Amino acid sequence: MNCRNIVVQEMNSTAVEPMRCPKCDGAMEQGFVMDFTHGSRLVSSWVPGPPMKSFWFGTQMPAERLVPIGAFRCTRCGFLESYARDDLAPQ
Ligand SMILES: [Zn+2]
Repeated sequence: MNCRNIVVQEMNSTAVEPMRCPKCDGAMEQGFVMDFTHGSRLVSSWVPGPPMKSFWFGTQMPAERLVPIGAFRCTRCGFLESYARDDLAPQ
């Protein structure tokens, strides 16, 4: 079997990779979708699975399964691209 080494492209962790808009190639700036639902300012979160009434209207939230959503906005056309990643949690 002819195994070739898998080339892993190293991400430069020290430099912030400039994101380009997939629609117009404009510059993307990082932000987040703010949630005012509970009278406080929260970062919207991604939750796995379909929404359930008992979940959305109850007081219990499976906080350990929430993934904060970061949204990148194109400064040219306004296109939004969202990512649900733990590293996008409030610092
Ligand atoms: Zn754009």
